[in-house]
Amino acid sequence: MDPRFRAKALRSPRGAKVSEIDWGDGHQSVYPHDVLRGYCPCAGCQGHEGTIKFVKPTSDIQMELDAIDPVGNYALQLTWFDGHSSGLYSYTYLRALCHCDVCRPGVAKEERAELARS
Ligand SMILES: [Zn+2]
Ligand SMILES: [Zn+2]
Repeated sequence: MDPRFRAKALRSPRGAKVSEIDWGDGHQSVYPHDVLRGYCPCAGCQGHEGTIKFVKPTSDIQMELDAIDPVGNYALQLTWFDGHSSGLYSYTYLRALCHCDVCRPGVAKEERAELARS
């Protein structure tokens, strides 16, 4: 498996506002929870086709993580405090979601562009 899409470690302390993933190639991604929730890839949030858009969360419980469960070896299922749990975040998608300066040189941190499905 491509080490860029292999999560070596996941840190998401209860109550934290960000989650972190260490990747097999040494890259470290830090995900603010508004980014993770706003880019939830499920059909309920995004419909069935087109690009993935940032859907701004409107309340704090939408941005608080209740559980993170691995799905096979290709994705994570995130459960949020409002009960939303239909989003499957593949590792390739999570890697594309990284908003760091290395992955998005020259792009402002607060910019929330549309993403391809993966
Ligand atoms: Zn969703
Ligand atoms: Zn990055």
